[in-house]
Amino acid sequence: MDCLFCKIASGSIPVKRVYEDEHVIAFPDIHPQAPTHILLIPKRHFGSLAQTSVEDAGLLGHLLAAAAEVARQQQVAPGDGGGGYRLVVNTGEDGGQTVEHLHVHLLGGRHMGWPPG
Ligand code: AMP
Ligand code: ZN
Repeated sequence: MDCLFCKIASGSIPVKRVYEDEHVIAFPDIHPQAPTHILLIPKRHFGSLAQTSVEDAGLLGHLLAAAAEVARQQQVAPGDGGGGYRLVVNTGEDGGQTVEHLHVHLLGGRHMGWPPG
């Protein structure tokens, strides 16, 4: 499949893997929007969160738990030397999604404004 993040997951495009397990890999965003900006992706292809269902709850929960793990590893988790972080799942055109493989942005290392742009 001609999918950038599937190529990253398979290793055909190399990235610095800051976390990996059976289901998920995490690597730095190429255009960081915060001092810490990591992407977490499932190894399995989903075009977006909109293409998941409650049957995928296990994997989606795993993705969130992995994000919390990476936040601790990157020292942005509150109580672990950091001040907190934000997870973002841009979904579809209005959501600002540009890569059509489900991913979670982990942003930290600065204060996040609200509402987001
Ligand atoms: P989104 O706009 O939510 O779809 O996020 C896609 C993200 O992927 C953007 O923040 C890009 O900077 C990032 N990105 C695109 N290509 C790469 C790459 N080769 N390695 C790491 N991050 C990438
Ligand atoms: Zn993919």
